[in-house]
Amino acid sequence: MSVRPLLLLDVDGPLNPYRARFLRHRGYVTHRLRPADWSARQVPGSRRLRRGLRVRLHPAHGARLLALPYDLVWATAWMHEANDMIAPGLGLPEALPVIEWTRLFARDPDGLFWKTRQVVEWADGRPFVWVDDLITGLDVRHVADSHPGPALLLPVDPRRGLREYDFARLERWARSL
Ligand SMILES: [Mg+2]
Repeated sequence: MSVRPLLLLDVDGPLNPYRARFLRHRGYVTHRLRPADWSARQVPGSRRLRRGLRVRLHPAHGARLLALPYDLVWATAWMHEANDMIAPGLGLPEALPVIEWTRLFARDPDGLFWKTRQVVEWADGRPFVWVDDLITGLDVRHVADSHPGPALLLPVDPRRGLREYDFARLERWARSL
C-alpha cells in the first residue's frame, strides 16, 4: 500500500488571503479572532484588541482539502490555534497534526524561509506538497537537495489565496506519484 503524501498548509496567504481587497463575491467569510501571540502584542483594552484580528476564510475549503488524496498537516505560525480557531471557519476537523516550530520567525543563516528546514525534518522523507505564500527559489533548491522523496513547493499569492488552479495542481501531483 502506498503512503499518502502530506499536504502542509500555511494559513495566512493560502487560506486567509490577507492582501486581497475584494473577497466577498468569492464566498469568503470574515472572522475576528484573538490568537494569543497577536493579543499579547496589542495595547491592553484597546479597540483593536476588542475587535480582534481580521481573518477571512472560505467555508468550502475544508471539504475541498479533505477530498484531496493527502494527509493534511498545519504548517503555520498559528500552530495549535489553527485547529482551535481556523479549522471551524473552513469546516475542517479540529484535530489535524501540527508542526510545532522550534525556530519560529528565526533568521536563517542561508536566507531560507524560517519554516523550510523544519518542514524537511518533519516530512522525514515522506512525499509532500507545501502550500505557502512566502516560499522562494532558495527554499525550492534546499528542499530538492535535502529531501529524499518527491516534494512540491506551491507558492500561493496572498492577494488571491488558494484557487481552482491550485486544487487541480494538487490533484494532478498526487496522481503522478
Ligand atoms: Mg503565510
